[in-house]
Amino acid sequence: MLRATKLMALRAARSVGGCAALRGSRWRRERLLILCYHGISLADEHCWNPELYIPGNLFEQRLAAISEQGYNVLPLDDALNRLYAGELPPQSLCLTFDDGFHDFAAVAYPLLEKYGIPVTVYLTSFYSKYRRPVFDLMCSYLLWKARDRTLEMARLRIAERSVALAQRGVRQDVAANICRFANENGYSADDRDELLCRLASELGVDYNALVASRILQIMSASELVDLDPGLVQVELHTHRHRVPLDKVLFRREIRQNRDYIRLGTQRRMVSTHFCYPSGVTSPVFLPWLRELGIRSGTTCRPGLACRADEPLMLPRFLDMCGVSSSEFDGWLSGLASKMPRRRLTDPEPTASGILV
Ligand SMILES: [Zn+2]
Repeated sequence: MLRATKLMALRAARSVGGCAALRGSRWRRERLLILCYHGISLADEHCWNPELYIPGNLFEQRLAAISEQGYNVLPLDDALNRLYAGELPPQSLCLTFDDGFHDFAAVAYPLLEKYGIPVTVYLTSFYSKYRRPVFDLMCSYLLWKARDRTLEMARLRIAERSVALAQRGVRQDVAANICRFANENGYSADDRDELLCRLASELGVDYNALVASRILQIMSASELVDLDPGLVQVELHTHRHRVPLDKVLFRREIRQNRDYIRLGTQRRMVSTHFCYPSGVTSPVFLPWLRELGIRSGTTCRPGLACRADEPLMLPRFLDMCGVSSSEFDGWLSGLASKMPRRRLTDPEPTASGILV
C-alpha cells in the first residue's frame, strides 16, 4: 500500500515537473546520489533474481535517462572529496557495481564506454582468482533453473527428503541447507564446485555449459587489466565477501582484497574505498576500517549522501528490475528519498562473517 501510494505520488510529481524543479535545487546540489548495481544479465539471471540482476536494455535505459536529464556522473573518489568540501556540481551522482561479475566486463562496460559514464567496481577477489561460479549464487540459480523438478536430497547425501522446487521459499531453504552443509563440513572451493556439478547433474542442468558461459563468475585478472582506469575505479569488497566480527580476520579480508586488486589491475593506486558485503554493517568495523586507511564505506541503506554523513556509512540506492522509470527519476532528483518507506534493517554480522 505504502509503495503503491509512493509510486503514484512520484508519477504525479514527474508529470508536473516536480523532479525537474528539485534536481536543480540547492538541496539536491548539496547531496550525492550513489547508485548500486550488482549484475547485468548475460542470459536469464534477472528472471532468477530481479533484485541482483537487471537486463542490459534496462541498464541502457537508466544510462540514457541519466544523460538526457543532464546529471553529472563523477568518479567516486572525486565525488566524495567534493561532497565533503561542499563543492559538488549540480545533479551529482556516482555509479557503483558490487562484486565485479564477468557480466560487468561483457555487458555493462561497453554501455558505460558508449555513454562515457565512470563507475566504481567493488571487487570481491577470491573468485576472481579461482575462476569458477560463486558457490552460493550458482546453487540458488541451479535450483531455479530446475524449478519444475523435485530434488532428491539423499542423492547429494545432505538430507533424506525429496523436495519439489516450484516455490521460491522452498528453493531458498534448500539453497541455505546446501550452503550450511558445505560450511559445516569445511568444504574447500574445489569440494564446493564438485558439489555444484553433482547438484546440476541431479537437476538435469548442463553445468559445463554454464561454467563456459561464465554466468555468476567474477572478472579474472586479465579482464580487470583491460578496463580503462579513466572509466573504472576498482575498490574493496573483501576477499571472500564477508566481514567477520573478529578483528584479525576482518583485517586479513581487506588486506588480501587490496593486495589482489593492486596486482590484478596492475594499478599503482592503493584502494581506499570500501563497500560492506551483503550490506552487513557494525559500529565495531569503523575504527578497524580507519586503521586500514579506508576513507569511505557504502551500505545498502537507501538515501542520498550529504556532508553530515559519516563517510564510512554512506547510503546508496539499489536499482533493480522492479524500479519503474518514474521511481528511478525520483531517486535521481532526490524526491523519492523524501517519501516515507518501510524501515529496513541491515543483516547482523557474525564472528566468522559467514551468514548461513
Ligand atoms: Zn557483494
